[in-house]
Amino acid sequence: MKLLSKKNVLITGGSRGIGKGIVSSFINQGANVAFTYSSSSSLADEIVNNLNSSENKCKSYQSDASVLLDCEKLVDNVLNDFGSIDVLINNAGITIDNLLMRMSEDDFQKVIKINLNSVFNMTKACLRHFLKNKCGSIINMSSVVGIKGNAGQSNYSASKSGIIGFSKSIALELGSRNIRCNVIAPGFIVTEMTDKLSESVTEDWVKNIPLRRSGNPDDVANVCVFLASDLSTYITGQVINVDGGLLT
Ligand code: NAP
Repeated sequence: MKLLSKKNVLITGGSRGIGKGIVSSFINQGANVAFTYSSSSSLADEIVNNLNSSENKCKSYQSDASVLLDCEKLVDNVLNDFGSIDVLINNAGITIDNLLMRMSEDDFQKVIKINLNSVFNMTKACLRHFLKNKCGSIINMSSVVGIKGNAGQSNYSASKSGIIGFSKSIALELGSRNIRCNVIAPGFIVTEMTDKLSESVTEDWVKNIPLRRSGNPDDVANVCVFLASDLSTYITGQVINVDGGLLT
């Protein structure tokens, strides 16, 4: 039996990396998937061409998750196209790394806006629908860096810690309405985001991972499937590390 049959899912940042892996796993598990991208329209078209079928609907939307009005319009469009939203996955994120000494205010604000404001924007835009439906699962993508910190990533780390505080508060606020909110904290997952790192940085990370390998988008997508499915209906307000034991 497919774990996500008849569920409609909205995923931000589905054109590449972890988001792309989530889109494909969710379609394999029977979900209908709406996903967003920022600028990669041809990558998004390719995913839709490969995955949209008579059994599972897959549609992409260009939408800036850091702009509330964009998110509100997006949710209206997805509701028109899909009829309902059962699961929201706030996955879109960026890095602009630098030591604090060299970090501009603009680079700090930009990362906070895209990584953290986006989670507020999308959750707020979906809230009325979830309340009306008396059900919803929200999955927010943080990072081990949001738990532990990382030199050269103070903006990113602040945004990812913020996601954890936000999610725990939403879980407390909306649990009585059967709306769940959980966080995934991936460790070192190979995507374009990590391609920016030098070979020596990558080797250092892997050396410290108890399972002695980097993760892949499927490792994260599998946990998203669980949190989106009815197997996790008694789980809310939790942070699940998907890091090969890195923070153990
Ligand atoms: P990625 O390969 O760089 O992909 C980022 C995705 O987010 C793309 O689809 C991108 O769209 C989209 N995006 C960026 N800005 C956006 C905006 N303003 N509005 C809407 N979409 C936007 O990143 P990734 O490695 O898959 O990471 C996905 C998430 O996991 C991020 O939140 C990241 O912080 C988190 N994470 C990653 C790792 C890792 O090791 N990779 C570890 C921990 C946490 P375009 O293609 O159009 O640019």
